[in-house]
Amino acid sequence: MDTGRKEFILIVEDEKKISDIVRAYLDKEGFRIRVAENGSAALRLLKENPDLIILDLMLPDMAGEELCSLIRESSEVPIIMLTAKSGEEDRVRGLGIGADDYVVKPFSPKELVARVKAHLRRAGKTKKTHLSYNKGRLTVNLDRHEVVLGGKSLQLTLTEFRILTSLAENNGRILSRNQIVNIVQGFDFEGYDRTIDAHVKNLRHKVEKDSKSPEFIQTVYGVGYKFIGIPDEE
Ligand code: CA
Repeated sequence: MDTGRKEFILIVEDEKKISDIVRAYLDKEGFRIRVAENGSAALRLLKENPDLIILDLMLPDMAGEELCSLIRESSEVPIIMLTAKSGEEDRVRGLGIGADDYVVKPFSPKELVARVKAHLRRAGKTKKTHLSYNKGRLTVNLDRHEVVLGGKSLQLTLTEFRILTSLAENNGRILSRNQIVNIVQGFDFEGYDRTIDAHVKNLRHKVEKDSKSPEFIQTVYGVGYKFIGIPDEE
């Protein structure tokens, strides 16, 4: 079953001609794409948890290398550097500050797509597909799209499933309504941030023993939601 988990690729590139080409090729593969035209926009979009970043080295407001180091302070997201610099020294430096790969302009968009897929595959291997909390009381199987509470399989809508998994994957971290909308948008989610509240309400009725005093999905007033669960040992 398609769970609507389209991978989210962030393209950081100030040259529209190039970002348009990259976007077009990745679009054909069904990825969800956002373009940041400078470093500060990229840092804002980083909060939406991209699955991979394509990073141009020459940006108007900061060097790509600097941005790469900043991203690495908080994220292990795969980074492919895209650059006109082709010297061996630049290459080694790029990889040294945390980039995972290096593609030199002019490049073949097909090759770039192949590398994107390879890095996502590699990253996916370490990504958990089975989540289990509170001594097995709540388990989520991301491949099978299955949520089990106290031994009983729950019937969740796709939107509810995506909201639950995005919160659970960020266990203990607050996600804003806006962040949740962006994650859920992968499958044509029609709605705005307040619509999330209605979905969370429905989700709580299914996941929580007492939806008025939730065990797993906590409201963070004025901000959004967070999932609280004690992860079980593998
Ligand atoms: Ca540039």
